[in-house]
Amino acid sequence: MKLVEKLIQNRILSKEEFVELLANTDAEDREILRKEAVRLREKYYGHDVYIRGLIEFTNYCRCDCYYCGIRRSNRQAERYRLTQEEILACCRAGYALGFRTFVLQGGEDPYFTDERICELVRAIKSSWPDCAVTLSIGEKEHSSYRLYRKAGADRYLLRHETASPAHYRRLHPPEQTPQRRRQCLWSLKELGYQVGAGFMVGSPYQTPENLADDLLFLHELSPQMAGIGPFIPHHQTPFSAFPAGTLRQTLLMVALTRLILPNALLPATTALGTIAPDGRERGVLAGANVVMPNLSPVGVRKQYALYDNKICTGDEAAECRACLQNRMRSIGYELAVDRGDFVPE
Ligand code: SAH
Repeated sequence: MKLVEKLIQNRILSKEEFVELLANTDAEDREILRKEAVRLREKYYGHDVYIRGLIEFTNYCRCDCYYCGIRRSNRQAERYRLTQEEILACCRAGYALGFRTFVLQGGEDPYFTDERICELVRAIKSSWPDCAVTLSIGEKEHSSYRLYRKAGADRYLLRHETASPAHYRRLHPPEQTPQRRRQCLWSLKELGYQVGAGFMVGSPYQTPENLADDLLFLHELSPQMAGIGPFIPHHQTPFSAFPAGTLRQTLLMVALTRLILPNALLPATTALGTIAPDGRERGVLAGANVVMPNLSPVGVRKQYALYDNKICTGDEAAECRACLQNRMRSIGYELAVDRGDFVPE
């Protein structure tokens, strides 16, 4: 049996098979995989696209990921952090625009102690009890994750970045270990969060074996969400000279992820929209069902630069929403005013 058919039937392959599939797919295979991904996505979520209001509330970071523009060693990065009032103002504006999930994302900023994060989560949940709060603030102790959850946080995004330990070590300094990253993901699951893992496509030194490991890891962890976007170089990082991941390979990985996690929440990422003008539409047409427009104040948008040429850094939230609405309608999909929770099988 052909590997593509085997995957569609069994929903999983061995590592060797995934490697072979990644090495050998032609345009026809990719189209078969894409169509199956869309079929599954529509089975669980119809033509709805869920929107998440992304609030990038701090770009201070104690980590030093080699790929990331806000890594602590980037002395040229202009740092900022929003006040609780500013963050709540973003939510207020977002709520009026139909957002029912707020994603608080930031660097690992020690200013935001557990107490401050919990206070923030409680403030959002008490003002907008019909909204979900997603945190994306990196690696914390199990006890901290438990406190955030108690405060009302519903979801947590923590991409595993790469599931191959040796590859992980080439993308991060020695103090950031693949074991800890994994441990955090399992902790989050255990605490009852809807969890988002994920990885970059085309990151430096990545091999087809690494991508096969990523797919197998997603299968093992079975997260409710998976963020998959192309690596894009940032000019002030050690990886400035590496090429960006490609549209084709990223779309293939999104479709493969949909086959493995048929009812997952998969964003068509901003990075995908950055490497191609119609990247997010193409992402949805490869099985994605979430978009994450920016709700951060326009004044700080450019400073949250994980990679170069990030899109939408000048547009107000309302413009972003309208633009995405048009984009999704143009391909037969509709933005939903909904928390957009995970639908169990
Ligand atoms: N500090 C949080 C949030 C990280 S930023 C955390 O550790 O989870 C969110 C994601 O952006 C990262 O997980 C990473 O996968 C992605 N990212 C960072 N630098 C990037 C780059 N140069 N190109 C593409 N994606 C990048």
